[in-house]
Amino acid sequence: MNKTMRIFLIFSCLLLIFFDNMSDKQIYSILSSDTIDVSENSIVVNTDTIPLFAKKIIKAYLDFDIKYLDNSLIFSDGTKIIYDDGKDKSFIEKLDNCDIEDMFSMTYDVERSEPLYLNDCGRGRCEAFFKKMYGNNEAAVRKNLVPVDWFGQKVPFTKINGAADKLGKVASELSQHPEFHKYLKNASSFYWRKIKGTNRQSAHSYGIAIDINTQYSNYWLWSNPKSSEKDKLKYENHIPHEIVRVFEKYGFIWGGRWYHFDTMHFEYRPEILNSESLL
Ligand SMILES: [Zn+2]
Repeated sequence: MNKTMRIFLIFSCLLLIFFDNMSDKQIYSILSSDTIDVSENSIVVNTDTIPLFAKKIIKAYLDFDIKYLDNSLIFSDGTKIIYDDGKDKSFIEKLDNCDIEDMFSMTYDVERSEPLYLNDCGRGRCEAFFKKMYGNNEAAVRKNLVPVDWFGQKVPFTKINGAADKLGKVASELSQHPEFHKYLKNASSFYWRKIKGTNRQSAHSYGIAIDINTQYSNYWLWSNPKSSEKDKLKYENHIPHEIVRVFEKYGFIWGGRWYHFDTMHFEYRPEILNSESLL
């Protein structure tokens, strides 16, 4: 090996060590160079570096004109939601105490036929953020629900962030496929509640989720009774992927892509689903 090659190799190693020692957040900060001007909202600092995941949130939820500043998402009324609480969390802690950054800690993979072990992208929700957008209690959420025509039923869904409009688009596209109608019967939509066995607010509480026909659906605890979150699970699904793809096209994630599968469940989460087009 000549001297030039040796110098090149040493330099490459040093570069690798440098990046290896950085947190994801630091790397995203380096990769992200966007700045925002927030002076019109009386925030003193007028530029900032926006981490990649904050950028996805801002672009997915344009109804709220969200800014990013000093590790927080800031709504136009001044409400601050911490972006990254800096805590190292276990799989369960990320679900129970999910900050904005944690919501992106897994990958929503539309190519996989079965989810990877403990990959539940979108199952974690920063509750403060969702309550701020959709309502802090049942009455507040109800104020923004509108009926969506859904295969002969009326489904109450939030009009915030265009979610009800998007569900209407899913309905009109799927109405062209009568062979799928038996799967689509609404089993549950708006329902202010905690997820069974947890202290976490269900996505149904916010009027952003719909469960389709349970007769054709599978749920991780039905297929794997008495299993706990970290157990090895048997995966089952009978919902055609053509249906899933139409929902995903309009910004809905599917519970059938979760390791803890819930194949009846679709949820409006444009920050996760449209992440590539949002950049
Ligand atoms: Zn559901």
